[in-house]
Amino acid sequence: MIEFPAHPITPIGIIHSCYPEKFGIPRQPGLVKSSTGRLELLPPCDREEMVRGLDAFSHLWILFLFHGAVAEGWRPMVRPPWLGGQKRVGVFASRSPHRPNPIGLSVVRLTGISQEKKGLFLELAELDLLDQTPVFDIKPYVSYSDAVTDAECGFIPPPRMVQREVLFTKEAEEACAIYEQRTGRQLRALITETLEQDPRPASQRQQVREYGMALWKVNVRWQAEGERFLVVGIEGVEKTE
Ligand code: SAM
Repeated sequence: MIEFPAHPITPIGIIHSCYPEKFGIPRQPGLVKSSTGRLELLPPCDREEMVRGLDAFSHLWILFLFHGAVAEGWRPMVRPPWLGGQKRVGVFASRSPHRPNPIGLSVVRLTGISQEKKGLFLELAELDLLDQTPVFDIKPYVSYSDAVTDAECGFIPPPRMVQREVLFTKEAEEACAIYEQRTGRQLRALITETLEQDPRPASQRQQVREYGMALWKVNVRWQAEGERFLVVGIEGVEKTE
């Protein structure tokens, strides 16, 4: 057996994200520019000097626990959504959250660093992370070595530029405006960009039906027909502080 020094890995922080549920989260970071959140650094990693110099970087790597997938376990082969959920590939040829060590890796935009009474926070955007995700490590993104421009990406193509229409009813439009005024968050853009990624499971794409999707603390109700999405209501705006 190979011997290595035992080292416990504990979270250095926790993500507060616009995505409180898995449904709706984009498949990779960078796809939804308006998705935002914060990384709260936890003791003993909440010291200002530990992030000194980080503000000079526009992007970060985040290594995290797929905490919402642990209970479901893993299988040696998975059906990636990029293959329409039909074909299977090895788990290590996929970006599936269901893996032997459920560790995720995302590059996200760093928009600021906030030292507040209640803690030290990294302000993030362009996320693909579930709310409350435990974070093991962060590293600055270094484009000269991290960006491989001639990489082969197998069965994972760059996102298709499918024209999807996202429309809002008058009521939904008004609810967005109230929410945005109360919170300063760009809810309308977040809904639009999230739906443009088409969060429906591949098996439901031919159906006409209604969905609910949680964003921050509101529930967004929308209908889908083909590549057309109609946002019909936003529930919970009145409860938003
Ligand atoms: N960029 C990461 C990677 O490649 O390791 C994650 C890619 S994975 C395909 C993205 C999906 O993981 C999201 O759409 C969401 O459904 C799921 N996800 C994100 N954070 C999660 C968490 N903490 N626990 C479980 N699933 C999560």
